Amino acid sequence: MPAAPLSNVPDAAGRFGPFGGRYVPETLVAALDQLASEYQRAANDPHFHAELDHLLKSFVGRPTPLYRAEGLTRLARQHAPPNHGATIWLKREDLAHTGAHKINNTMGQALLARRMAKKRVIAETGAGQHGVATATAAAHFGLECDIYMGAEDARRQRLNVVRMKLLGARVIEVHSGLRTLKDATNEAMRDWMASVESTHYILGSVVGPHPFPRIVRDFQAVIGREARGQCMDTLGSLPECVVACVGGGSNAAGIFHAFIEDSEVTLVGVEAGGRGAEPGEHAAPLTYGSPGILHGSLSYVLQDHNGQTADVHSCSAGLDYPGVGPEHAYWKDAGRVRYTTATDEQALHAFQQCCKVEGIIPALETAHAISEALSVAAAAPREHNIVVCLSGRGDKDVDEAARLIATTAMNDAPRLPVDSPIPRGLDHPRQSE
Ligand SMILES: *Cc1c(COP(=O)(O)O)cnc(C)c1O
Repeated sequence: MPAAPLSNVPDAAGRFGPFGGRYVPETLVAALDQLASEYQRAANDPHFHAELDHLLKSFVGRPTPLYRAEGLTRLARQHAPPNHGATIWLKREDLAHTGAHKINNTMGQALLARRMAKKRVIAETGAGQHGVATATAAAHFGLECDIYMGAEDARRQRLNVVRMKLLGARVIEVHSGLRTLKDATNEAMRDWMASVESTHYILGSVVGPHPFPRIVRDFQAVIGREARGQCMDTLGSLPECVVACVGGGSNAAGIFHAFIEDSEVTLVGVEAGGRGAEPGEHAAPLTYGSPGILHGSLSYVLQDHNGQTADVHSCSAGLDYPGVGPEHAYWKDAGRVRYTTATDEQALHAFQQCCKVEGIIPALETAHAISEALSVAAAAPREHNIVVCLSGRGDKDVDEAARLIATTAMNDAPRLPVDSPIPRGLDHPRQSE
């Protein structure tokens, strides 16, 4: 039986194999149906694409460069066997307007809101990047904008709270639960149930009920389309490997999508390994979780044996989420993408390395992908090329990174100078692999 192409998902019900779908209260069904049919019309409308392309070019700053990371490549080669140490390339989403990939999605969804004549947008935010990107799109289009943010995240990302307010948004701090992204998402969904007539919910990742996982993936797929073309132009071939961090999974889905049918390209998604494998110490549902329903769709979830969503931990607010997009669950079970983790400590180490050898301060989220890319590169032949999705810049993280570098918890582990060996031996495959 010939396998259906992996890229031919979701189906009309929003299913990625068994995953995805729509598990929502009755009050949201009409709004989701309206969104799905409006999106279908927009997707078939050349004017919509022309307007979005123009915005991406003139306002967002696309295409973003594919940058040859000489410093990281040199670092990987220092620890590689002879003739090993692949070249590392960075797809520079940090150079997109507002400093991360999030804006690709929010500009697209704000255009959809305008098509549906909705005058107000709401969003959840973790690191604050999606809130800033939504507030930016709302300011551009003159939409009213309310952003839900966990109080703990608001503390960790104070600068982004100020940015959102400057952009004209109202920031609503959420004090329930662990006061992070999951709690903010619950509140945003509650708001939407009461306000669907006038309000569009700009979901920030490839999660949630159908049609969100598909819409967000399609708007982020520009990352992979550009990267694929840039590889063909610069290398004359596809890369051997593409690496991205996975929170909800939108930057990863966006860069992977263009390569899904190229079976010779290895795809690696890196989740937040936090402080370790014990429940509550990480935010890695694909690595440690099981299928379950969270925020309206079926995917891998971190949950206890009663199906209660588990607590999560990551040093990066943008990865601190117990669920993941259903398409990643599908890719995992199909064996198309390898999912692994990087711990807080590994990410913080890679963060410092990238700053020092590249002159680029990456987001702490992105640093998880850089950590994995360094060890993949060190183990790969020298002529191979590895593309890392540099999902965002780390200006927002410098206070938190300084605090973490200085804390005792981090000092318990042997401290390594920034240019010391990558702290994961090639001969010690990690637990999750
Ligand atoms: C939000 C964010 C992430 C995580 O979200 P995904 O949907 O998994 O991409 C990763 N990196 C940066 C810079 C972010 O702002």
